[in-house]
Amino acid sequence: MAFNAYAAKHAKARLEPFRYEPKPLASDEVEIAISHCGICHSDVHLVDGEWGDWFPLVPGHEIVGTIAAGKAFAPGERVGVGWQCSSCGECEYCRAGEEVLCSKNEATCQGNFGGFADRIRVNERFAFRIPDELPTESAAPLLCGGVTVYTPLRTHAGMGSRVGVIGIGGLGHLALQFARAIGCEVTAFSRVADKEPEARGFGAHHFLTGDPARGSLDLILNTAHASPDMETYLRALRPKGVFCQLGASPLPLVVPATPLITGSLSVRGSAIGSPSIIREMLAFAARHGIAATTRVVPMREANEALDTTRRNLARYRMVLAN
Ligand SMILES: [Zn+2]
Ligand SMILES: [Zn+2]
Repeated sequence: MAFNAYAAKHAKARLEPFRYEPKPLASDEVEIAISHCGICHSDVHLVDGEWGDWFPLVPGHEIVGTIAAGKAFAPGERVGVGWQCSSCGECEYCRAGEEVLCSKNEATCQGNFGGFADRIRVNERFAFRIPDELPTESAAPLLCGGVTVYTPLRTHAGMGSRVGVIGIGGLGHLALQFARAIGCEVTAFSRVADKEPEARGFGAHHFLTGDPARGSLDLILNTAHASPDMETYLRALRPKGVFCQLGASPLPLVVPATPLITGSLSVRGSAIGSPSIIREMLAFAARHGIAATTRVVPMREANEALDTTRRNLARYRMVLAN
């Protein structure tokens, strides 16, 4: 059985129809008939060759579909797959439930053929039942974008925390919803002033196009790719505050030492989330009605949709549908 997919053959290439023969289904794998796949900025980086030569490349790692084969779920059950599709299952990180840190972790669409396809096979530990309350197309972006923002919020924020979100796009619009649902006081930062009504609709109490006030935030999530003015943002943090980088920018973060030291601040990064966090995030999203705002287009329009994401014009997530 061959899988139908869309693949880039080299960097900056347009995706073309692509058929491939999958490896035999392993005893700990599931096969998923893909109905929807969100488009994340990582897909753009991969297709454009910015993360190395992974060609031929089938992008896509915000996958929702139904179980076609495998023992771990009932046939037809609705499941999702995110960025990670496997890990060793034995190392100290896997044993601690931090599979995302496993040195043998495998990515769904980097070194494997991803979700711009009709089917995919992944390790059953990295397929997640989608709660009934979540619509398929708005659940797909939760698998990467959603868990990417949920993980640092869960670690560093709680009821009453003052959270700033830089960049109101695919990640940012989900961060505002999760932060609000957790009970935080939420500030959205965007250079696009006309996003204010939508940002407030997603849960922002405050909307700023300029600099934040000194000592006004406990946690800043930077979902933007542009290099931020770290002096300004670190001075916006309260003592022991955290600046968390989520956007995979090729540019360095230039961290000024003085506010870092005097405020006992932390600057850290965070990537996706491990399976237990993904399950928790999906349940939390279902409970609180959190959903990506999507534009759904047919899978065959993958090139146009990818370009919309590339040019930061998606409001707020492009989703491909079979
Ligand atoms: Zn992603
Ligand atoms: Zn491991």
